[in-house]
Amino acid sequence: MIYAILLSIVIICSTVHLSAYVAAQLDPNDPNTMVYMSVLVSGILAPPASFTLALYSNRLIRVQEQLHELAVADPLTGLYNRRAFEELYARESTRSNRTGQSVSLVLFDVDHFKAVNGKHGHAGGDVALRNIAETIRRTIRYGTDETARWGGEEFVILLGETPHEKAGHAANRLREAIEKMDLTYADQSIHITASFGVTECQPNEKLVDVVARADKCLRYAKKQGRNTVVLHPKLKTVSTVKAA
Ligand code: GH3
Ligand code: MG
Ligand code: MG
Repeated sequence: MIYAILLSIVIICSTVHLSAYVAAQLDPNDPNTMVYMSVLVSGILAPPASFTLALYSNRLIRVQEQLHELAVADPLTGLYNRRAFEELYARESTRSNRTGQSVSLVLFDVDHFKAVNGKHGHAGGDVALRNIAETIRRTIRYGTDETARWGGEEFVILLGETPHEKAGHAANRLREAIEKMDLTYADQSIHITASFGVTECQPNEKLVDVVARADKCLRYAKKQGRNTVVLHPKLKTVSTVKAA
């Protein structure tokens, strides 16, 4: 909107300027011609021109916003996509290097999702994925935590200002919330669980390395029988966070 207002002011000023110039060409010795021309030309031209341009610039801004949304969002869940998450990670990593605050990453994968698709169809699987995204939105902290669909039935969460133990508890709350989701599709209830890997990010660490460590924990959680959270304390050992 501010662009539209600025644009209108620019148009009105340039129209007045232009009309003064035209008037000066017609009769440079008569100051009244200049004034009449200025008022007439700017009065006729400026409002429709500025209105059209303001409308056009507003539309451009909206298209720009929509394009940006398409570029950063996963179309099925509305969460950030992987590329957007990489940017968020870079920003958060720089911030935590400066402030010294811990940042943790949670990677989770829906259990036996192929079987969910097999039983309820791909559309039923999509309903489950959308509901998982909604459950994440309800569960994470607004302002410090960011979530993305990492791909397929895998999701990733970056928890700002959070050491790994706290991230483990947050992941466990989400694990419980997903397990308790009351889903139905085509009159059939869908039961979903997920396995989680949790790790703390190190200063200047590349995202690919953090995700690899979280993925190791996630694979371990699958081996432990799924529906489990595994965290990576002190970056050496792997332990299981028991369900409450
Ligand atoms: P595990 O517990 O070991 O993770 O088993 P899984 O069956 O979840 O793992 P697997 O990797 O074998 O299968 C993942 C399935 O997720 C297969 C794929 O078709 C399905 N999938 C991936 N993306 C989508 C999607 O957008 N919608 C739906 N409905 N299914 C998807
Ligand atoms: Mg998977
Ligand atoms: Mg899976």
